[in-house]
Amino acid sequence: MNTLTRTLKEGVPAGKDVEGFSRAMLRYLDDGKNWTAFYASLPVVRRRWGAAKVELAKRCALKAGLPQYGVGGPALEKALRAAGAFDLRANRLLDEYAESIKPTLVEPDQGFASLHQSLWEAYSIGRRGGLSDLGTFNPDSRLPSGRPSDHSVYPAYAFDLGFDPDTGWANEQARRVALALGGRPELEYVILGNRIWTNDGRGWHAYTSGGHFNHVHASGVR
Ligand SMILES: [Zn+2]
Repeated sequence: MNTLTRTLKEGVPAGKDVEGFSRAMLRYLDDGKNWTAFYASLPVVRRRWGAAKVELAKRCALKAGLPQYGVGGPALEKALRAAGAFDLRANRLLDEYAESIKPTLVEPDQGFASLHQSLWEAYSIGRRGGLSDLGTFNPDSRLPSGRPSDHSVYPAYAFDLGFDPDTGWANEQARRVALALGGRPELEYVILGNRIWTNDGRGWHAYTSGGHFNHVHASGVR
């Protein structure tokens, strides 16, 4: 089942989710006159959220007994779904929208197979952020304690992303990537310079084992 990928209100960019949601609202209201106008309009108009659709959302909310905010959000979507207003076409439009905003995956130098699938998106965020590939799988990789690291299993549960100059946390590009990665539920920890983010509610804090001034290390939840 679909869920709306964003809250639709006046001012948001147009998209297929707008068209699908509008279709469901018109079906729900059984509004023949506006339905005809909706279908006579160009896709570019159908995919735009504006004053007319704000009104439509208010009328739907009133009918569903919801607060009339004039936005298309989760509460209104739930009511429309319960009423069977989302047909196949509306669902397909929402699917296509969701697909269109999916980030493009970047393949690691050692191949997708070298990195656990749960980490592909996080890795791609780092590469799209301008960092280089310093490796995924490495059978010889050890933790400071001497124990095998998350790089040493296949597929690896870790990746290293390089940057230059090797100024650790002070490198703005690297810091931006590290901050984007810290907080992601599929990650166990992220290290940059003298800071580490851990998936235990502590957030970013001091890291004293060194060795991360030219790369961001990310380990996944195993
Ligand atoms: Zn590493």
